[in-house]
This record gives sequence, structure tokens and C-alpha cells, in this order.
Amino acid sequence: MRKEEKVEIALGNRSYTIHIGNKIVEKNKLELKSLLENRRIAIITDRNVFDHQYENLRNQLSSLNLSTELFVIEPGEKTKSWTFLKKILDWLIKKEIGRNDYVIAFGGGVIGDLVGLAASLLRRGVNLIQIPTTLLSQVDSSIGGKTAINSSDAKNVIGSFYQPKKVFCDISFLRSLENREFLSGYAEILKMALVFDEKFYNYLNQYFNEIKELKDDALIKAISTSLSLKARVVERDENETGERALLNFGHTFGHALESYFGYSEKLLHGEAVAVGMIMATKLSVDLNFSSNGTVEKLVEHCKRVHLPIDLSQVSNVAINVDKMIEYMKQDKKVVGENINLILLEGVGKGFIKKSVDFKLIQRFLKETFS
Ligand code: NAD
Repeated sequence: MRKEEKVEIALGNRSYTIHIGNKIVEKNKLELKSLLENRRIAIITDRNVFDHQYENLRNQLSSLNLSTELFVIEPGEKTKSWTFLKKILDWLIKKEIGRNDYVIAFGGGVIGDLVGLAASLLRRGVNLIQIPTTLLSQVDSSIGGKTAINSSDAKNVIGSFYQPKKVFCDISFLRSLENREFLSGYAEILKMALVFDEKFYNYLNQYFNEIKELKDDALIKAISTSLSLKARVVERDENETGERALLNFGHTFGHALESYFGYSEKLLHGEAVAVGMIMATKLSVDLNFSSNGTVEKLVEHCKRVHLPIDLSQVSNVAINVDKMIEYMKQDKKVVGENINLILLEGVGKGFIKKSVDFKLIQRFLKETFS
């Protein structure tokens, strides 16, 4: 049985290790003890994670006799706001969390982003540990150092780059995750395979059922391979001035679709990314970068794993192309009337196509949504 995988992120004095495994917090208790002993420890989580998994975390930490403080906030994207950032900072200050103490973000990507930002601001940066509890946060949001809250009308626009000291991706926390949330995270794993690694894509194709059933070996391999691929990109381009943009494959269309549906339960992030990846692959074919077989492969895989392949599976709302374009124009990769898009030359071969004219995208969207 695969016990533990480790992925190192080499960023000079901001380097850290991601531990991936089953009950991985407990397996690293000696290391955690030396890190956390005699420190104040503030754990911040949301109500769902508290209800389903806090006992699991507490049991894993129980023999360490740490003195921890706990703050439970309500779940949901709406907490990525000034109001909750202030609440958390006020609470951390009241609990006298100093620069040598530790803040633990225990939850999905919302908790990771919000608590990460709070940790980066408090006393100009206190120690942060990420213990992600959704598949999406285990493979994506908890590593790489992006933290954020949303403004009243734009997502993730207020934030910082702030790396954690450690990340524990413990698959035992995923047992209480809803199926749709699990698949939403899986879409990010699939994205990494499509952009960087055909062999990994073949692995996912072969072992999806085991991954879905949370079989240790397959799931740990899927998470750690995805993380290793992301780690290498983050190491080379921490602040996203170049190739880190490749991680946005499927996201330019996906974010526009999420905006269209008001970031609601109707369309989860990973579902939007799945539809967005299919759209980006179709555009790659239209522009002669890729063969039609690439779209067919991806569609077949998404069908098999029950990720949506188009919006008809989610809603029968007719998409207004001009509104989609408006949302796309909020993307960080927009340059004047053009946008940089992530396209595919084939499975495992993503690339940045610079300066795609919005007129071309408009034609493509009209065909897609007609
Ligand atoms: P989330 O944190 O809202 O979690 C989804 C739902 O699952 C919530 O209701 C949560 O309470 C619940 N939950 C979490 N863990 C659970 C568990 N183990 N058992 C039962 N329920 C559980 O959402 P998410 O999908 O994890 O993350 C989405 C967020 O991540 C978005 O805000 C997005 O912007 C952000 N994100 C950030 C990055 C980054 O690089 N920082 C990357 C991708 C996404």
C-alpha cells in the first residue's frame, strides 16, 4: 500500500513540502510536534468541515497535546469577503497569534484562500499550514501561494502570493465530500494531464474508478502526480508572469461561464472548467493546432467520469454571446482587444496562444451556443 508521497516546492527560503497520504497528519506527528510545540496554534475552518472532519483531525493530533484555538465560520464563497477577512484578523489578534505562531487553514479552497490572505497580512506574515479537505483544494488551491478574497463584483481580485510552511493532503478527509465536489476537483487533475502529461492522462483513463472509490494507491498517485506537475510550474514562475498561465487551461471560458451563472451551485468550478476545457480544445481544432481526435478523447473521458461536456447538462438557459465576451474581458490575460488563451496541440501538449482577437472568439462562441 502506498503510504505517503511527498512533493517538494523549491522556492529558496520559501520552500516547503506537501505530504500526501491516508491519515497523513498523524503519520507526520513527530515533525509537527517539533514545529508546533510551544507555539500558539489557530485553526480556522468552516461549519461543514467542522461537522464532518474536525474529529478526524483532532484524533490525528491528539497525542501531541497541543494547545489549539478554533474558529469556525460559515461555509461558502461569500466568506471570501472584507467582512470575514476582518473577522478572522480580529480573532487572530485577540488570540495573540504572533509571527512565530501558526495559523492552520483547515477546509476547502474558500478557507485556504481566505485564511491564507489573513495569515499573509497579520504582522506582515505569520506561519501558515494548509490542510485542504476538498479534492480541488488538495490538488490546486492549497499549493502555489495564491490567496484571495472577492470584491463586490469580481472574483479573487484582492489577494497576495503567500506560501505556506507545510501542506497536508490527507485523503481521509475526502470521505465526506459530496460526489459533485469530488468530480469538480477531479477536473483540475484532468487539466494537468491534458496540458502537461499524456502518460498521466492514460493513467487517469485506466484508473478512474479506483480514484473515484478513494482507493489509496490510485488516489494518492493521482493527487501527487498532479501536484508535482503544478509544483514544477510554480517553481519556474511563482508570480504568474509567464508559463504559470498554462494552469488556466479551460479557465478562461470556465470563469466566464461561472460568472454567467453567478458563481452558484448550478455550475461548480470544476464543472465549468470541464466545459471550458472542451471549448478550448474545440477552438484548438478550429485553429488547426490539434486534431479532432483530441476533442473526441476528452469528450469520451468526461462522459465516462460524469463531468459535463456542455451546458445543456447543467441548464437550458440560452447563452448570450455578448455577455460571455464581457465576462471574458475581465480575464487577467486580456491585452487590449486580444486575449492570451491556453490551447492544446494534443493530449499533454498545452501552449499559450498569444493575442487571440475577440472577434474570432465571438464567432467561435456564436457557433458553440447557436
Ligand atoms: P469550498 O471551500 O467552498 O468547498 C466546497 C464545499 O465543500 C463547501 O460547502 C465546504 O464547506 C464543503 N467541504 C469542504 N471539505 C469538506 C469535506 N471534507 N467534507 C464535506 N464537506 C466539505 O470550495 P472548493 O471547491 O474547495 O474551493 C473553491 C475555491 O477555491 C474558490 O473560491 C476558488 O476561487 C478557489 N481556488 C483558489 C485557487 C488558488 O490557487 N488559490 C485555485 C483554485 C480555486
